[in-house]
Amino acid sequence: MHIRPRRLRRSPVVRAMVREHHVRVEALVQPLFVVERETDAAPISSMPGISRFTVDGAVAEARELFALGVRSILLFGIPESKDAIASSNYDPNGVVQRAIRAIKAALPEMYVIADLCNCEYTDHGHCGVLDPNGDVENDATVALLVRTAITYAEAGVDVVAPSDMMDGRVEALRSALDARGFTQVAIMAYSAKYASAFYGPFREAADSTPQFGDRRSYQMDPPNAREALREMALDVEEGADVIMVKPGLPYLDIVRLARDTFDVPIAVYNVSGEYSMLQAAIANGWLDGERAIDEMLVSFVRAGADIIITYFAKEYARRHGAR
Ligand SMILES: [Zn+2]
Repeated sequence: MHIRPRRLRRSPVVRAMVREHHVRVEALVQPLFVVERETDAAPISSMPGISRFTVDGAVAEARELFALGVRSILLFGIPESKDAIASSNYDPNGVVQRAIRAIKAALPEMYVIADLCNCEYTDHGHCGVLDPNGDVENDATVALLVRTAITYAEAGVDVVAPSDMMDGRVEALRSALDARGFTQVAIMAYSAKYASAFYGPFREAADSTPQFGDRRSYQMDPPNAREALREMALDVEEGADVIMVKPGLPYLDIVRLARDTFDVPIAVYNVSGEYSMLQAAIANGWLDGERAIDEMLVSFVRAGADIIITYFAKEYARRHGAR
């Protein structure tokens, strides 16, 4: 036996030397939930370690993240008032718009991404405007997303991240942003976003549970892979700067497909359910937390992701440090 792969596993030094993939802290994005009502700023019980912040609290959290080396955040807003047409979403003084301004004023270098959807702002909890049958109307919803994106751009956002899964929204956003001079605002499209059970804890965090039905008429069916390629190709064609796969762990094959097919950066969203199931096992002493988190995060890099959106960003940066 001449070939013995174990030779290169004998010590930490040689293992580090031949290690193929690394999680870079600068590739991590921490999601932040920002509330309008002060009383809503509280820990999220289904996501141990994650809280909702006021605008001031979000600025303080952003400073802490930045000092640890996390240089990008993804903002979600929880408004005080909701209605059928998500009016509080495109209010120039809405909670996300104020958070963008405050964070950019405090930390101009923080790379601020704003999630773009309607579900946190509609009283029915769906991602768009409903037609008389209760179905989400595609084009009317896209028009609202465009309105909101412009207010985010005016507030100084670096990236808008449409998560609605409406058809044609990337093209509409790119044209509208460019027409108003926001050619430098990037689009990170939630391109392959599946109708997943792993979003459960997020809905508590963002107060965005649909009041009836589900999101299967616009989010993707979990068993489909070719369809993900089609969705991603459309978004790239329409002008997306970054395409995303969401969730992460159950869809690593889709991340790999994306990497092998497209030249744009690939983001993966390590969603709330993936976070919470790990945290639950760690809290019960069933898993070694640090090792499990590191192993999970490197799986995204190995699958081909460039950008990892994860609720573990802060924790990971705390252990592995700013460079
Ligand atoms: Zn939504």
